[in-house]
Amino acid sequence: MEATETGWTDERVEKLRQLWGQGMSASEIADLLGGVTRNAVIGKAHRLGLSGRPSPIKKKPSKGATILSLTERMCKWPVGDPKSPDFHFCGKSALPGLPYCAEHAALAYQPAKKRDDERKLGVA
Ligand SMILES: [Zn+2]
Repeated sequence: MEATETGWTDERVEKLRQLWGQGMSASEIADLLGGVTRNAVIGKAHRLGLSGRPSPIKKKPSKGATILSLTERMCKWPVGDPKSPDFHFCGKSALPGLPYCAEHAALAYQPAKKRDDERKLGVA
């Protein structure tokens, strides 16, 4: 006979699954369901096999390089706002003799139309 099992109707179990899946804390779920303790919610969730829920905390993207991890052979194309903590460098393997990967070298060295200011300077 287990007191914590009382009150777990199918409906409430389903609700628990949903809220748990949304990353709610056990105490929040207990409050919402009512009539159960935080411990009862945790116990039930474990018995339902819900303990391995995905963390609501967003993982930092592991892609890209920071100024500290950047090496000679990595693409140094800046990505994002330099003032933002998300700022990083492309970090893909750079083309031989170039500071950028193929993709960014194409962007950096695209055969742009001859720069007007250069021409003007030459003529004047
Ligand atoms: Zn790149």
